[in-house]
Amino acid sequence: MIQSLAGRQLDGLPLDNISVLRLDQLGGAAPGNKSFKLRLHLRRAQARGVTRILSFGGGWSNHLHALAAVGSELGLQTIGVVRGGDTDTAMLEDVRRWGMQLVPVSREDYRRRDQADYQRQLAARFGPCLVIPEGGAGSAGLLGSRAIADLARVPWQWSRVVVAVGSGTTLAGLAAGLENARELVGISALKGASDLESRVTAMLAGAGQQARLPWHIDHDWHCGGFARADERLRQFIPAFAAATGIPLEPVYTGKLFLALYHKLASGEWRADEPLLAIHSGGLQGRRGYAWLTTTDVAD
Ligand SMILES: *Cc1c(COP(=O)(O)O)cnc(C)c1O
Repeated sequence: MIQSLAGRQLDGLPLDNISVLRLDQLGGAAPGNKSFKLRLHLRRAQARGVTRILSFGGGWSNHLHALAAVGSELGLQTIGVVRGGDTDTAMLEDVRRWGMQLVPVSREDYRRRDQADYQRQLAARFGPCLVIPEGGAGSAGLLGSRAIADLARVPWQWSRVVVAVGSGTTLAGLAAGLENARELVGISALKGASDLESRVTAMLAGAGQQARLPWHIDHDWHCGGFARADERLRQFIPAFAAATGIPLEPVYTGKLFLALYHKLASGEWRADEPLLAIHSGGLQGRRGYAWLTTTDVAD
């Protein structure tokens, strides 16, 4: 599940020392990091005897997608509170098929998703149920993501581990779990999310965890903003797939590997040191981008 890119090159740049942790190939119907983030949330529900889970997302939410998939596997009822406007997507078609009940709400209501009184209101209407924060965040999400670090534990040391960042929960889990790396670098998928570092620090403290290695977040690779794609990213994703056989999506992993490629090509990072990139999945979301063709997936 760790794939070496030895022997591969992209535009003349040798990729030999890059390894990729293919979470996109793990987790069955719920591949990628989201099933890790859900793991402890669901265990908590089962421990409490709760059989109904409610959570939040937009029309292209990888989190709701994973929750619906895992819920149907475990025989749990799932409810997705969906940010208004975009309920008619390929992703939500999947989740409906897996039995998730969708509750479209206005953008104003959706903004209240983390407020206790709003969650109580929802629980009264749809309960008894466990409410999971958007994206599977929170301490349970962090501790679930820590298990990803176990998959990176090989008998050698990585110079760097790199991962895409949305809420920062997965990065925080990795920071708490990784031992065999010199540093952990997050590539933010969001534009100007300058509070991410303090949120990661707060999440670690809230979960009673400490970072075991230095980490930082690079904010320069959002390519226009969350879920946006500029020309550079549009050209990079098919080129990377042609060079490596590894499919990427534009929201998170495309930006991660684009950043990685440029840091190596510019010499900012040494190309002769072993580096692990986490492929956090999300490939189901490719259907939202008409400019992506399935022909760039060379597997
Ligand atoms: C949600 C997601 C991320 C970001 O995870 P966070 O824990 O929110 O930082 C990265 N990659 C993919 C594919 C995702 O779906």
